[in-house]
Amino acid sequence: MLHTRIMLDESEIPTHWYNVVADMPNPPLPPLAPDGNPVAPEQMLAIFPGNLLEQEMSAQRWIEIPEPVREIYQLWRPTPLVRAHRLEKALGTPAKIFFKYEGVSPSGSHKTNTSVPQAYYNKQAGFSRLTTETGAGQWGSALSFAGQMFDIDVRIYMVKISYEQKPYRRSMMQTWGANVFPSPTDMTNAGRAALAADPNNQGSLGLAISEAVEEAASRPDTNYALGSVLNHVLLHQTIIGQEAKKQLEKVGEYPDMVFAPCGGGSNFAGIAFPFLADKAAGKKVRLVGVEPTSCPSMTKGVYAYDYGDVSGYTPLMKMYTLGHNFMPPGIHAGGLRYHGESPLVSQLYHEKLIEAVAVPQVATFAAGVQFAKAEGIIPAPESCHAIRAVIDEALRCKESGEPKTLLFCLSGHGHFDMASYDRYLSGKLEDFDYPKTLVDEALKGLPQVDWPPKAA
Ligand SMILES: *Cc1c(COP(=O)(O)O)cnc(C)c1O
Repeated sequence: MLHTRIMLDESEIPTHWYNVVADMPNPPLPPLAPDGNPVAPEQMLAIFPGNLLEQEMSAQRWIEIPEPVREIYQLWRPTPLVRAHRLEKALGTPAKIFFKYEGVSPSGSHKTNTSVPQAYYNKQAGFSRLTTETGAGQWGSALSFAGQMFDIDVRIYMVKISYEQKPYRRSMMQTWGANVFPSPTDMTNAGRAALAADPNNQGSLGLAISEAVEEAASRPDTNYALGSVLNHVLLHQTIIGQEAKKQLEKVGEYPDMVFAPCGGGSNFAGIAFPFLADKAAGKKVRLVGVEPTSCPSMTKGVYAYDYGDVSGYTPLMKMYTLGHNFMPPGIHAGGLRYHGESPLVSQLYHEKLIEAVAVPQVATFAAGVQFAKAEGIIPAPESCHAIRAVIDEALRCKESGEPKTLLFCLSGHGHFDMASYDRYLSGKLEDFDYPKTLVDEALKGLPQVDWPPKAA
């Protein structure tokens, strides 16, 4: 019989997270205050607990996963690694295609891998109230679930357009006990300013972050949790790649290429970073982040210090960015509509240790439908980006006859995204290439700082 689902035992859930910082050729660049000086850790304590900040700044290679976190991971981990035999056959490719399926988590995506430890560490540090933002709703649901596990009051600023278009994601968060508000709200200065400028503001991820950070910073009993971008978030996701490596080993395989959709970069880091460790040790493997042509942070953005939110509440981070004022077009892969890319992924891309490609929207849904017909699982629109790039590579293998081994992260299922599939199936979806002129426009608002500072 062919190997299809390659499973691990519960006892094989990783015991440690892998910190890529230990294997990077250069140390990460520090977050800066607007005056160009590195942000003091104490300043970050206004919104993050000390134990998570320690992870954020750690260079230690392995960080132990607390037992209560592993016990919750057991509800859905280890996740399956699947050989996509039927997709290979449909494509007529000599390539071997494997996917790591993160959609089996309670909220349906990889985001629970970090929401659970974030809730745990906040609880340990004595915080029982968390704010966050959510776009399409995957992060909000992941944090709501985690909050429920550790008895934390979760307050979610949900981008207004998604709040209206994705009522069932909202119900999901409410089922796990969270409070959900359509952003912009009139509860924060950031929200009120946005509404004053435009009462019909449909919201954006950057704006919702401003609201969530503002509430957390203004209350001593409240912290903020972020679902991507930051070092500790990427760290928590590395269980994906560690498990995948073990599963591939079981069938005597090693990937030539690893793909993942790239929004803030966390599931990409999760599957790719454990392979980067091998690469640092001399092994050949290509790691490819896949982003939308409508929000091409790496392929069209610049590598510069920028804010993580619209209002400039966050520290400046050195990252590939389209500018913090970037207003994303209303594409359906909500989880990929962020102006920046995580600093760690950005630095590795800048140093050419990883690669990036951009793919257009209609082709991603075509890939998702082809995948669903072959493999059964209906992928999240974000995940369809990786599938597009994998199918393109598999077709190149068909041309060249090269039997490459391809691995990708199927970061989530698309059960809450059927309205988007509807639009694709009825021919109403369009492509959007983010034009260079708009990139240049948004980049004019970049803060003028760099590290190390240029000598005066
Ligand atoms: C949030 C999300 C993404 C993008 O976020 P990253 O931090 O880049 O991983 C991708 N896929 C799914 C299913 C998501 O929910």
